[in-house]
Amino acid sequence: MANDTKYLLDESRIPTHWYNIQADLPHPLAPPLHPGTGQPIGPADLAPLFPMGAILQEVSTERWIEIPEPVREAYRLYRPSPLYRARRLERALQTPAHIYYKYEGVSPVGSHKVNSALAQVYMNKQEGVKRITTETGAGQWGSALAFACQMFGIELKIYMVKVSYEQKPYRKAMMHVFGADVVPSPSPDTNAGRSVLGEDPHSSGSLGIAISEAVEDAASREDTKYSLGSVLNHVLLHQTVIGQEAQAQMEMAGEMPDVVIGCVGGGSNYAGLAFPFMRARMAGESKTRFVAAEPASCPSLTKGLYTYDFGDTVGLTPLVKMHTLGHAFMPPAIHAGGLRYHGMAPLISQLHADGFIDARAFPQNSVFDAAVQFTRAEGILPAPESAHAIRAAIDEAIEAREAETARTILFNLSGHGFLDLGAYEQYLAGDLEDYEYPADRIEEALKGIPKVAS
Ligand SMILES: *Cc1c(COP(=O)(O)O)cnc(C)c1O
Repeated sequence: MANDTKYLLDESRIPTHWYNIQADLPHPLAPPLHPGTGQPIGPADLAPLFPMGAILQEVSTERWIEIPEPVREAYRLYRPSPLYRARRLERALQTPAHIYYKYEGVSPVGSHKVNSALAQVYMNKQEGVKRITTETGAGQWGSALAFACQMFGIELKIYMVKVSYEQKPYRKAMMHVFGADVVPSPSPDTNAGRSVLGEDPHSSGSLGIAISEAVEDAASREDTKYSLGSVLNHVLLHQTVIGQEAQAQMEMAGEMPDVVIGCVGGGSNYAGLAFPFMRARMAGESKTRFVAAEPASCPSLTKGLYTYDFGDTVGLTPLVKMHTLGHAFMPPAIHAGGLRYHGMAPLISQLHADGFIDARAFPQNSVFDAAVQFTRAEGILPAPESAHAIRAAIDEAIEAREAETARTILFNLSGHGFLDLGAYEQYLAGDLEDYEYPADRIEEALKGIPKVAS
């Protein structure tokens, strides 16, 4: 249906469908491979972990996938999210560029992650799942899923990386308010956790370990599934509500972006904004540029290899073709916790490899320079992750000033930073560290990438 439609919104301006970019790719994605056999995996391999609805979306090539009404009803709590023009920032930069940003910080937990959490929990509910497990690092994904599970009445167990559990009590408190069970990982509740604790009772944990615990828990119980907040095709799909709304809002403003910018951790918020605009570019109907912003200390797109690797640190997940720094790579402890991932979504990776997406990497202090400049002009305090997009947008605006040319810039402000104020205090005190590009450690980790014909 509606195959030639540009985007599909209802009368309240909320999308009725998700846009599936797999329908429009110049060539299909490389298939995920079984970690043991090296053969392409099928839906049955994923069925113990994910609801069938999500698995079918993962491989679908339908262009438009209808958003179930109960999900749209929950979206109405905070969607459509606002699109602003950053006029005061433009003035501060004395740039002829027009800067627009889509603000996802208005969601109940303050980031875009709710867009996929609601969709995933609903599909589980439909299929009779009683309980979901997940991992969380800094707590953004955990709190989004806790909110969504509360909306649809599903039990949730969150394995939270122990160092964050101890150092970031407010995200944990938010998950508790939404009724989730949160344990520090490594925990004594799983074999994976017990084995790590056996070797080091004081282990501060890692996202890789937490994933192993959440996956083991879900795989070992009939009533339980696992849920992931980024990277996978179906997660990126759910986020396309952002870009479709932005298309309609830019049209209202009478402008088309020359460049579309977002920060990338696993790639979901950026895909959400960019993919609906990318469609015209792939069809040769627009010259819009696409810029992904990442941390210099975890530069998957700018320095990684495009090859098959594991999604997790331990090496339990299927092998996926993506930009990777090596699954054993441990990024430095930058404040943009949501961008500390060794890999990248396969969809973003392929579009980068095919030349549709450019990537730029920024050190932490230059990112906070941009964040503070933005806050002082626009009044919104961004998440450290989102501030990478602001850095890239400000650089584009300065370039336009120097070239004395008009330029329309659109970026995604993926979340607010009210629970990251400690990082801002450190920055203002001059105590924020700029990590060197960890060349040696990346080289070492790249050696551990499994050998597969790709
Ligand atoms: C998790 C997170 C990110 C990074 O994840 P993506 O999947 O790349 O979007 C970016 N911004 C915020 C606010 C986040 O919470």
